[in-house]
Amino acid sequence: MERLDGTVVTYRTRFAPSPTGPLHLGHAYSAILAHDRAKAMRGQFLLRIEDTDIQRCRPEWEAQIHDDLRWLGLTWPEPARRQSEHLAEYDSVLNDLAERGLIYPCSCTRGDIRAALSAPQEGAPPTGPDGPIYPGTCRHRAMDTRQPGDALRLDMRRAIESIGNTSQFGFQENGPLSPGHHRLDADTLLNGTGDVVLGRKEIGTVSYLLAATWDDAIQTITEVVRGADLFETTFAQVLLQALLDLPTPTYYHHALIRDETGKRLAKRDDARAIAHYRAQGATPQDVRAMIGL
Ligand code: GLU
Repeated sequence: MERLDGTVVTYRTRFAPSPTGPLHLGHAYSAILAHDRAKAMRGQFLLRIEDTDIQRCRPEWEAQIHDDLRWLGLTWPEPARRQSEHLAEYDSVLNDLAERGLIYPCSCTRGDIRAALSAPQEGAPPTGPDGPIYPGTCRHRAMDTRQPGDALRLDMRRAIESIGNTSQFGFQENGPLSPGHHRLDADTLLNGTGDVVLGRKEIGTVSYLLAATWDDAIQTITEVVRGADLFETTFAQVLLQALLDLPTPTYYHHALIRDETGKRLAKRDDARAIAHYRAQGATPQDVRAMIGL
């Protein structure tokens, strides 16, 4: 990665929001932290728009993301990568996994999954990065039985077999909460991650897990800076990197910004929206102070 002046960029990170609502203080924290780390390392900060959820993403939220981040004083190379413009790439990754027998079509609704998991003697079912660990109802299905409306799930057991010894894969965590090296292990992948969704039920679109993993590699991201809520997701993403022969960046998961009752901020929490503080006359420095940066 060479700059125009011939110096080499050795650090590259990104902020990767989904345009499904206004950015709030938690997003500001993530974006500014990533931007500041890139600056400190004389590296690069990228913006990536994760707009694969066609039901929930809106152009007006995307415009607002650009506007809020610029107002905060952040800069990035334009144009930002928009995932909706790269669906053919993700599709070819899915085809590759299908040819290797690693994914299968699934017609289960959330209700079906809840019902399959509601054996009364067991406690609350364990959850993975995209909800309860999938009970495997559709795992026997061949790819050519895919119907419109079916999602595509990773067959985790086969995926583990395909990479061989899981403990040769892992990631370096540089954030303050669980620093150090974390290895993959088959037990956690089977029982803590499970058969995650890689292809969404709207044919032609993919899940966050797959698109973000692919893009981090394509954009040669060296460190992923994001909230601690995505720490567990990293195991699934490192597994995908192993399956697809992609490099593993380092990770920096930061603590989440919470409201005064200790609740995590959510997109629908308009009172914490950056736009709300802007409208009230706050400056970018005020926002930095509010989140302790
Ligand atoms: N689009 C994801 C989100 O908004 C980004 C997660 C990531 O940084 O990997 O939660």
